[in-house]
Amino acid sequence: MQIVLRSSSIRAFMQCPRLYYWQWEHLGAGLESKSLYMPFFVGDWVHQGMAKIYSAKTKKDRALAVKSILSGINEYLDTVFIPLGEEAPLDKAIATVRGILEGYCLFYDVSKERTEYKKVRIEQPFNFHLKQAFVDQAGGANMSVLVHGTIDKTVLDSKGAWLWENKTAGQIGKDHFSRLPMDAQLLTYMVAMKYFKESLAFGEPVRGVVYNVCKKTQLRGKDGESRGALIQRVVDDYLTRPEFYFQRQKIQISASHTRAHEQDIAQIAVAIKQMRERQASYQKPWRAWTKHTTQCQNRYGQCNMYKPCLYDGRADTVENLYQLRGTNVQS
Ligand code: SF4
Repeated sequence: MQIVLRSSSIRAFMQCPRLYYWQWEHLGAGLESKSLYMPFFVGDWVHQGMAKIYSAKTKKDRALAVKSILSGINEYLDTVFIPLGEEAPLDKAIATVRGILEGYCLFYDVSKERTEYKKVRIEQPFNFHLKQAFVDQAGGANMSVLVHGTIDKTVLDSKGAWLWENKTAGQIGKDHFSRLPMDAQLLTYMVAMKYFKESLAFGEPVRGVVYNVCKKTQLRGKDGESRGALIQRVVDDYLTRPEFYFQRQKIQISASHTRAHEQDIAQIAVAIKQMRERQASYQKPWRAWTKHTTQCQNRYGQCNMYKPCLYDGRADTVENLYQLRGTNVQS
């Protein structure tokens, strides 16, 4: 038997096995929200914009990259969102994406970055089987574990290779950076870089992560303010105080944390296998998956699978709010 995981499903399981079930196992596909969740689109558009910015070699190339991503977004909005009657939240989303991309290019000098980093790789997919010794040790002698995903960017400086992670966030708490050495998603990427040292880490030791944060604006539209005026006000704010919106830190991640995470992945895979086997004897299969109810509400708000849990998988609730993974408009 093979268990297939990715960094987001590993993190979901660590947060709560029942959450993992709803998102990755329910009806063989997992659930995703039907609603067009604007912060998701902002994050995704910034992510796409960053990939283009990183590929650009000069200031002029960067400006063209930003222009092309913004015109792609406008076309997408005209054809997908506005026909769905989703116009209202768009102004702030467009303003935020434009402010982040334009402000970022102004704040971080392309020529300085090209000097600091000797080599850069962008959007690197990976796919590896976890070392069988870890799986055996976790009690999964007759199973294998495949992990796949994509790393935003890897860079090489004078000290070694670094994983580069882009984060778009509303707010960054004081302890945010100090929690990163133990972050499940980053650790999965670190394991991937270790397994693919030649192709992801330039054959060099992996030091940690360059964590690149772009904060979303908290400015809101004013009564009677036009779309154009709001966009301009937000963009101006990004350009006027970029140090407030952009933060970047190098975080060293130790080899022992990375190795421990390999063991964690193996244990998670074995637990998933056991819960899958157990669910066959339940009329409601989700009841075979442990609930971590301490995670139903956390610092980020309510768990996004709260309703299926609260109503114990009631079909009308699930069907009204969710659809099978891979069918949403953003996929
Ligand atoms: S609502 Fe609570 S129990 Fe249910 S999936 Fe979310 S964290 Fe787990």
